[in-house]
Amino acid sequence: MSKIAGVGLKLSKYLKNKKIEKINDLLWDFPYSFTDRRSVVKSNQLEVGKIQTIKVKVLKYNFPRIRNLPNKIVCNDDYGQIDIIFFNSREGYIRKILPLNELVVISGKINFYKGKYQITNPDYISSLEKSDFVKKIIPKYHLTEGLTEKSYRKIVEKILDNLPIIDEWHNPNLINILKFKDWKSSLLDIHRNEKMGIESNAYRRLAFDEIFSHLLILSKNRNRIRKIKKEIKYFNSDHAKKIINELKFKLTNCQKKAIEEINQDLRNENRMFRIIQGDVGSGKTIVALITAFNVINSDFQCAFMAPTEILAKQHYELAKKIFDNKKVKVSYITGKTEPKARKEILKNLANGKINLIIGTHALFQKKVIFKKLGLIVVDEQHKFGVRQRMNLAKKGGNNCDVLLMSATPIPRTMMLTIYGDMDVTKIIEKPLNRKDIITLSKPEEKIDQIILFIKKLIKKGDQIFWVCPLIDESKILNYSSVVKRFEFINKFFPKKVGLIHGSMDKIAREETLKKFLNKKIDILLSTTVIEVGIDFPNASLIVIENANKFGLAQLHQLRGRVGRGKKQGTCILVFKGSLSKKAVQRIKILKKNNDGFIIAEEDMRLRGYGDIIGFQQSGIKYFRIADPIHHRDLFELAENEISKIKKEDFESNKYEFLMKLFDRVELISEI
Ligand code: ADP
Ligand code: MG
Repeated sequence: MSKIAGVGLKLSKYLKNKKIEKINDLLWDFPYSFTDRRSVVKSNQLEVGKIQTIKVKVLKYNFPRIRNLPNKIVCNDDYGQIDIIFFNSREGYIRKILPLNELVVISGKINFYKGKYQITNPDYISSLEKSDFVKKIIPKYHLTEGLTEKSYRKIVEKILDNLPIIDEWHNPNLINILKFKDWKSSLLDIHRNEKMGIESNAYRRLAFDEIFSHLLILSKNRNRIRKIKKEIKYFNSDHAKKIINELKFKLTNCQKKAIEEINQDLRNENRMFRIIQGDVGSGKTIVALITAFNVINSDFQCAFMAPTEILAKQHYELAKKIFDNKKVKVSYITGKTEPKARKEILKNLANGKINLIIGTHALFQKKVIFKKLGLIVVDEQHKFGVRQRMNLAKKGGNNCDVLLMSATPIPRTMMLTIYGDMDVTKIIEKPLNRKDIITLSKPEEKIDQIILFIKKLIKKGDQIFWVCPLIDESKILNYSSVVKRFEFINKFFPKKVGLIHGSMDKIAREETLKKFLNKKIDILLSTTVIEVGIDFPNASLIVIENANKFGLAQLHQLRGRVGRGKKQGTCILVFKGSLSKKAVQRIKILKKNNDGFIIAEEDMRLRGYGDIIGFQQSGIKYFRIADPIHHRDLFELAENEISKIKKEDFESNKYEFLMKLFDRVELISEI
């Protein structure tokens, strides 16, 4: 920012505190309201606390010349008097701007002190002729320490005054239909005119620009990745068939189709960039492992990344089991791997002895070097940033195919916005014989019934998840506290209950999870941390307290933790007090549907786009101004427009300025 004339180092530091580092940042930081100084009021219309503008005559000076006492200028109009108070202003200056017996226009906040109206250190003073300078609408921006309204506004004004005129980049027909002005006028409207709401044409125009630039960069990225050439992977799929035949279950058609689709990608000369979208429990892991096996058979290495240690460990155990005697050397690495073991692993990755490495974030560290990496798999991909994924993929250069997995069903309409640069494989079918989870709701008063039910289940050898949304009751009244609940349940099942919550340290958390996995405890009480991927086929009941505090998609994720094996899964939603109509509607949807995609659509219908899991965490640049809830139609229009862009425009620099406006350019060079 210090490159802008008038913005020194100090000011740019203050701006940085407000997250303003580039001119764009200033442009997209819209005023939150406006002060209207246009109407001039009489001195009998003054309102204390309000910013007002008055036209008065300067009557009398009072310069006390005693330290700490302010200068006071008495002014009046036909209706009364007002004092203008100055701290730290020199007499000469005051005499100049408020000449005796002259009419002046003054604007500032009105106080009342010792029976008299006052304005202290007015914002604006001007002579009658120049009063247009005062009588205007002034935008108000959120400020941070060190920034004054005036200094900030001055910078914004300077930038707005110098905005270039750019050829319209959108289709003129569309601009006409939507009644949009050009981007510059829209931006000036937003910053200079009375409040333009999120639904105003000016706002929508700029939001459309942002959405368009977002979808365009994804589309460009997709085209670019598709053109990257790699070494084709040669393998005989019969080898994998053996593994598939040895599984305890039959693959679903969706799983088979996914494997086929991926095999085609592996054998293609273009680099793979694919995401498997499959509901919880749809069996994505096995698809990924078969893929890894094929890649290894084609003489490449494979890296498989999961967001938590426990999940990585589960994948590792599974891989070891199914690749037994298959000449696949599997290894496992996390942040906690002992230095000696780590050294050995790193050595064997570099010399190619390890074919498949499964691990956590530890995988994309610099020191991890592969001999010939041909595939990365990222499980629960929304838990990772785009950059982390890239850093891992880079280790294999262009030869590295990328397979992402996600269990967060996304409404169809948002698919392109989030995954626009990838190929998508959907697994919509659940494994055969998988029973739908029974979903019940219970008021909190009937908790004794739940305890009875749990007793029965434990007798059968089942395990139970119990979820409470918050860890500390003092935070928000009326939420159940996990800790308190722990003590309550522990009374019925002493030593059989484990507790995990977000503010526990990672090691203690994973310890407790392990205990649960090893059946040392029967009940696991937690906040939502169990959401991610873990497979506990032995858990058959999940109790979710304060269920109305969760989104539908999240509830669906949570209940997906049970009923993953042969056992009938049950989910009990516990509520406090009486339920709103909307809450009842939400439960109905959950009870009726076991398909995450349908639930995601319904969730969006009820709550809007903003809460879709995976949208915020998608790693793709956030939206600065566009709002997926309010601007849904614009997303659809932008998708449609982009599909119509001519090839020469697509490849030209027609949209360069637009991309820079929203910082989308930087994404273009990476996978
Ligand atoms: P997710 O897609 O949520 O990652 P997982 O891959 O963890 O699901 O699979 C969930 C459970 O379903 C696992 O216990 C797995 O062994 C089992 N499973 C996977 N595919 C099938 C299938 N075709 N038939 C029966 N069970 C299956
Ligand atoms: Mg999974």
